[in-house]
Parts: sequence; structure tokens; C-alpha cells
Amino acid sequence: MPSLSRRSWLASTGTALAGLAVSGRFLNEEMRAQALTPERLAAVAPGKVRLSLNENPFGPSPAAIEAMQRHIASGQSSRYPYLQTGELVELIARKEGVAPEHIVLGVGSGEILETVGVHFGQAKGEVIYAQPGYLQLPRAMEAVGGKGVPVPLNAKGEHDLDAMAARIGPSTSVVYVVNPHNPTGTTVNATELRDFIRSASRQALVLVDEAYLDIADNYNSRTVVGLVNSERRVLVARTFSKIYGMAGLRIGYGVTSPSFAAVLRNHAFGSLSGPSVVAAIASLKDDAFVAQTREKIVTERQKLLDLLRELGRPYMEPQTNFVFFHAGRPHAEVFSRMQAEGVTVARAFPPMTEWVRLTIGLPEENAKARAALRKVLM
Ligand code: PLP
Repeated sequence: MPSLSRRSWLASTGTALAGLAVSGRFLNEEMRAQALTPERLAAVAPGKVRLSLNENPFGPSPAAIEAMQRHIASGQSSRYPYLQTGELVELIARKEGVAPEHIVLGVGSGEILETVGVHFGQAKGEVIYAQPGYLQLPRAMEAVGGKGVPVPLNAKGEHDLDAMAARIGPSTSVVYVVNPHNPTGTTVNATELRDFIRSASRQALVLVDEAYLDIADNYNSRTVVGLVNSERRVLVARTFSKIYGMAGLRIGYGVTSPSFAAVLRNHAFGSLSGPSVVAAIASLKDDAFVAQTREKIVTERQKLLDLLRELGRPYMEPQTNFVFFHAGRPHAEVFSRMQAEGVTVARAFPPMTEWVRLTIGLPEENAKARAALRKVLM
């Protein structure tokens, strides 16, 4: 049989696969944007304090680590993790107050964003999203023929829901709200968001990305998972990468209508590894660890905010494990001077080119970052 070149194989398998390859589906947006050039690789090299990818070094929970060790030691890695995956879906469904049919698992919530993007992008749809913002979904749509429609954040770094609503038209297939937002860390008003979803979901899928919501105040009053039902076009995306500290294990999920969940599963979802699945199950049962992690993040974040106030640097009001502040000088200058101090800050977020995003790390890492900031921002 003649061998197929990579190019002709991609061509033969159609736009969907080609789109996924183009958009690099094995990386989430944080990794892809930061890790693929020699400079970026140097920036995330061992020895640097890496506060650039919104990782949470306080996790995973000891219960999750023990569950993975038990799973591996008992020889279960030779088996497909069907039973454990079923248990995880049941647990998630109970937590979210929906039937299991509403749940779709992904290799990180990034896989869900990417698959939604490919699904609607192939049909030449448009996604309305906040700028600056997290671009994995818009990029996936654009890669296969869809269009991104950026809407600037308001002056407080929050989604401008009125401006987003005004952009919805016949070609809109997705409206993407990240709550709390990345890179600003801000939340949207809970009542306004619910009203917005009720109205906008009549015209398009409203995808609310709650990747960081467990870190915010008043989770219960802010989550919009209660608006998911069989008729409404809403998807809430969640991840185990943030509060659960499992970014390296690559697992997340979506909560949506059973019919849309089935559409997404047809794009070959949920090919998860056994250790990830058992770690997620154990994490969901360890509420105390989540509460402790949140407290550690908030305590450490306050030290950074105090420093920024002392240095007279404005920042956006954060509800996340990262802070977005006005450095008062070009991002590139701050990036390279912080690198010289051994600390990696996040990439730039145009058009806010004098603003810098810094993730909360371990206490000793944060202390090093604060000492570096004192030098760089003085
Ligand atoms: N959504 C937002 C807003 C994020 O910032 C991230 C990662 O940084 C993700 C989704 C995807 O994370 P993961 O693929 O690790 O679940």
C-alpha cells in the first residue's frame, strides 16, 4: 500500500481533523502561547520561578495522589478506564445537580473549547468574545473557517455584556464569557450575566468558562450551571487544572444539554487516562483540601496586591490565582527584567501592552517575585 504523506492524510480525513491539527489541540492556550519558541522554552525552564501559566502548585490533593498510586500499583493501567470514567461522570453530575447525560469529559477543558470551536467553525460561524481574553476557542474556530468577533473589555477589565449583546447577529454561533476572566481576573455581575444568558442563548450557544470560579468569592451565587437544561443553548466549562492543581493530568468537563453533549462526544471526547480519572474522583471528594487551597491562594494574592498598592501600580480586582497589573512600562521590558531576576511572568495581552499578568505560586516563589517586582517597578 502506498504510504500517505502527512499532508494528504490530513486532506483525506477532512476539515475537522485538519483544523484540530492546525490549532494544536494537544496544548491549551496557556502552553501554546508560551512554550513553543526557544525564548519561551527558556522562560519555562527548570530553575525559573514559573508564574506565567496560571498553574496552581498547591495541588493535587494528597487523596488524588494516593488514588493514582493505588491505581498504578494494582496493575490497572493495562485496562481501559471505563468503570472509573462512569463513576466520575456520576459524581460530577451529582455535584452539578444534573443528569449524567448533561456531562461531557475532555482532556482538559481546553479540549472542550477546541471541539466547540471546530464544530461551529466548520459551519463558518462567528464567536463573540472579550478582548483581551483567552483565545483557544476563537482560534480553533478561525482555524477551520469561522470568525472571531472581539469585543473590548470595559474600563474595569470586565466583560461588556451590553456591547457583546449588540454584536449578536444571524452569523453568531457562540458567545464566549470567561468568568472570572483571563487575563484580568475580574468577574461579571451575577444577575446581569444570568439575564444576558437567558436572552443571548435564544440566538447562539452561550459558553461560560468557569475555569477559575472555584477561587472566586460566592461560588454558589456566581455559577450559571443552574441555567443548563435540555432546551437552552448553554455550556458551562470546568477544569481540574486550576483549584484542584491537576494541570499536568489534563482533565476537564462541560455541562450542557444532552443533545449538544452527544454532538461533542461524537468528536471523540473523553479519551482520558486512568490516573487522571481516579485523581479527579478523589479530588471531588476532598472539599477540605479545596477550601485550604483557596485560602492559601487568597492569602498569597493579598501580599502581591499590598505590594502593588505600595508601589502605586493599579491592578484589576482579582477573583483568581493571578493578578493583572499596570506596570507603567512596556510588557517586553518587564518580561525580560523579571527573567533576569529568575521569574517568568505571562505573555503580553494586546492591546493592553503595559499590563502584566502574574500567577500566584508557592509562598517562597511569590516572595522571590515580589522582591523582583520591587526592583523592576521602582
Ligand atoms: N479556560 C481558561 C479561561 C483558561 O485560562 C484555561 C487555562 O489556562 C483553560 C480554559 C483551559 O485549561 P485546561 O485545558 O488545562 O483545562
